[in-house]
Amino acid sequence: MKDRKSTMGKSSGDDIFEKDYSKIRQIQPRANNSGDQKIRRLGENPRRFQGKSRQKKGFSFLKKAAAPFLAFAIGAAAGVGGGYYLWGYEHPYTVNLKEVAIPSWIEQNFIRKNLFSRPDVTLKQVNNIVIHYVANPGTSAAANRSYFDNLADQDPQQPGTVGGCHFIVGLNGEILQIIPVSEVTYAAAPRNFDTLSIEVCHPDDTGEFSQETYDSLVRLTAWLCEELELSSKDLIRHHDVSGKACPKYYVENEDAWKQFKKDVKKAMK
Ligand SMILES: [Zn+2]
Repeated sequence: MKDRKSTMGKSSGDDIFEKDYSKIRQIQPRANNSGDQKIRRLGENPRRFQGKSRQKKGFSFLKKAAAPFLAFAIGAAAGVGGGYYLWGYEHPYTVNLKEVAIPSWIEQNFIRKNLFSRPDVTLKQVNNIVIHYVANPGTSAAANRSYFDNLADQDPQQPGTVGGCHFIVGLNGEILQIIPVSEVTYAAAPRNFDTLSIEVCHPDDTGEFSQETYDSLVRLTAWLCEELELSSKDLIRHHDVSGKACPKYYVENEDAWKQFKKDVKKAMK
C-alpha cells in the first residue's frame, strides 16, 4: 500500500510541476527585472512547487477514487497485524538461563568441561525439553554421570564418542544435574542449541521407569516448564527429534507418553 501511494503521488506531482513551470516560462519575456528575479526563485526551487501540487492532487484523488481501496487495505493490514501478533513472530526470549535458581532437591555435580560432553558453549534459549532413557538397564544416575564425565579423557585429536545431558533421574528418584542449564550439551542433535536434555534410568530392558523415577521426572519436568516458561506441550522425546528409539518405553507406548505429559501439566502450578 505504501509503495503504491507514493508512486501515484510522485507521477501526478511531476505532471503538475511541468505544467506550472511551462506557464512561468511563457510569461518570462514580458516580465521586468523584479519579475525576472521572482521567476528565477521559483525556478530554482522546484521542489516546493512540486510538493504543494502533489499534496493537493493526492488528496482529491483519494477522495474520489481511492477511499474504498484505502479502507480495504487498512483492514487487510490490520488482519495481517493480528496474525503477526497471534503467531508470535519475533517473540522475544525473556528467560535468563544463567539466573535459573536450582532447588535443593536437585543435586548439582557438574562434569568437567571438555570437547566431548560439555563443550562450554552458551545455550541461549530453550524451546523444548527432551526426554531420554539411558539404555543401560539397572545403572544408577551416578554411574551415568561418570560415563559422561569420562568422555573427557578421550584424545581430542582423535574422533571420539560424544554425549551428555543436563539432568539424570536415577532408579530411586534422585536427580543429578551434570551440566548448567545455560550450557549446550550433545544429546539431541540437531536440536542441541535450543533444548535441554533429561536422561532417565530404568531397571530393565523394557525401558519403563520405576514409580520413584517417574515421580521425580514429573516433578523435575514440571519445575523446568515453569522456570523456562514452557508448557507440557513443549516436552518431546529424543525420538521426536531424530527418530531414534529413545526413550524406548515411550516410543513403544504412545499412551504412556501422553499420560506423562498430562501428569506434568497437572503438577504445574
Ligand atoms: Zn536419547
